[in-house]
Amino acid sequence: MTIEVLSDAVVGRIAAGEAIERPASVAKELIENAIDAGARSIHVEVESGGQRLLRVSDNGAGIRAGEIELAVKRHATSKLRGLDELQRLRTLGFRGEALASIAAVSRATIVTRRRDEPIGVSLQVEGGLVERQRSVGAPAGTVVSIENLFFNTPARLKFLKSETTEKRHIHWVVTRYAMAYPDISFALRQDGRERFRSSGGGELADVLAKAFGLKEFKRMVAVKSVEQRRKGRLGIDVEGYVSLPPLSRASRDRIVFFVNGRAIQDSALSHAITQAYDGLLKAGAFPFAVLLLTVPPDFVDVNVHPTKAEVRFRDSQLVFVAAQRAVREALLQSADAAAAADLWTAAGFGEGAIAYQQPRPAWRNLAADDLFDDAGLEAIPDIAAAPAHPRTLPVLRVVGQVGAAYIIAEGPAGLYLVDQNAAHERVLYQKLAAEAANGGVESALLSESQAVLLSPDDSELLSELASLFARMGFEIEVFGPNSFVIRRSPRMLAERQAADFIPQMLDSLRQAERTAEGAAAALAAAAAIRSGQILTQDEMQALIAQLERCPQPFASPQGRKTFIHLSREELADEFRRG
Ligand code: ADP
Ligand code: MG
Repeated sequence: MTIEVLSDAVVGRIAAGEAIERPASVAKELIENAIDAGARSIHVEVESGGQRLLRVSDNGAGIRAGEIELAVKRHATSKLRGLDELQRLRTLGFRGEALASIAAVSRATIVTRRRDEPIGVSLQVEGGLVERQRSVGAPAGTVVSIENLFFNTPARLKFLKSETTEKRHIHWVVTRYAMAYPDISFALRQDGRERFRSSGGGELADVLAKAFGLKEFKRMVAVKSVEQRRKGRLGIDVEGYVSLPPLSRASRDRIVFFVNGRAIQDSALSHAITQAYDGLLKAGAFPFAVLLLTVPPDFVDVNVHPTKAEVRFRDSQLVFVAAQRAVREALLQSADAAAAADLWTAAGFGEGAIAYQQPRPAWRNLAADDLFDDAGLEAIPDIAAAPAHPRTLPVLRVVGQVGAAYIIAEGPAGLYLVDQNAAHERVLYQKLAAEAANGGVESALLSESQAVLLSPDDSELLSELASLFARMGFEIEVFGPNSFVIRRSPRMLAERQAADFIPQMLDSLRQAERTAEGAAAALAAAAAIRSGQILTQDEMQALIAQLERCPQPFASPQGRKTFIHLSREELADEFRRG
């Protein structure tokens, strides 16, 4: 064959294959257009699972009669002009492809009128070719009717699932958008019967009660976290509802995310949410979760997939941690204390599971303080005698260590691979920060004082930060030019050579905040056990036991992952795949 440029009709049909997979994708694109047009009310009508008819009517801005033909042209959009705008999109659409793609594989009729135009316009397109255009009387807004979907793509038609399946998908698309936009009223009719309606009253709770049923919704708790916009840190807001443990599904299909109003799929994010329920749900059970994430527009790239269903975050770890933490907090602080306590006890968490029923932790009494000296370990913490600090992870059993860096542990919900350095850093930080906030880190007199020689810069900084070091449990005296003697050090680190970690601590404090928290983070990072260090079974078990009761066990203070969790079903899946 000679090389020739494809005709528009062929290009259209190929492109349609990417974005328009099934009737539900048509519903999604048309609903997004209606939302972008500022509609307050959106009606979806479906016949025969969307194959015979799929109609979306809105009371939005409408399309100017003179532009209607452009609307069904590929790469024609009113929402994007320049490349730079891609970074700060506020609309759901921007590719200018959906209407063209849909019209290429169906018979499409658009009836529309702008409020400021006296008469509306109707355009009919079949298989991508304009059949006719005429003026019509019409209410302000837009009605897009799609008939005979995939009539000219027999292969696609053949692969469509049953009508029932398609109906279910469309139903789920409509309810999901109703959740993301509680102030828009949505209605869905399938084969003449109303299947869903939301009031547009602005309350997510109302929509969820409709979408899941009141009985289910009553077993959900609100999630609301507004991340502090700290210096140079991004704000990631997480809002929504999640189920309390007894309410669950056999699959992840009731875990729903919206990022800046866009429904997205992200298996890693949904995994992060499932993990927040670790030990609360039995294997194979998944929560209900509807989470609306707000991130700065330039933090997320929406242009990675034709259906715009997947997005890429500039730092996905940050998003996972924010979402997981918000869910975990919501679960811990569930308003229904008694019920929650029962649930948690039933889930095997035992007493002391609920954070707010516990007195403030008396860290000082922890027998685990002198835990990580370099030479073997004398003081194995007496976990049973330790004050009950609320559990944030299920009880884990240490299986072993790999690469002198990771601890393998097993829990009720699968396998955990713990980064010993990140985990210990988290544990140390938590203890140091708590003591520092509570009058200062408890210090111990060293049996032999330790000398430390510093660079001139470091010496100056150490003198400057003398009171901060005192608060962290150090007593340091000037011995000579750039030379110091350490007489006391934090009790929990008394067995260690403080001289070894003071330079690194100074190094991080040069950039970090010079507050007690900043100093605790710097000391934790400097003193945490390194990867490469071989640990005994008891040392590992002790570290894990402390991590299990860390208020934020999932990440180090710097936001590094402390562990990777593989659930039973993920392991099983992995092996089944063959
Ligand atoms: P995109 O949404 O990416 O711009 P579409 O092919 O979905 O591309 O739509 C093309 C254009 O048609 C839109 O940019 C918009 O101007 C117009 N349009 C489509 N649907 C509607 C609607 N329901 N109300 C008003 N304008 C619409
Ligand atoms: Mg669109």
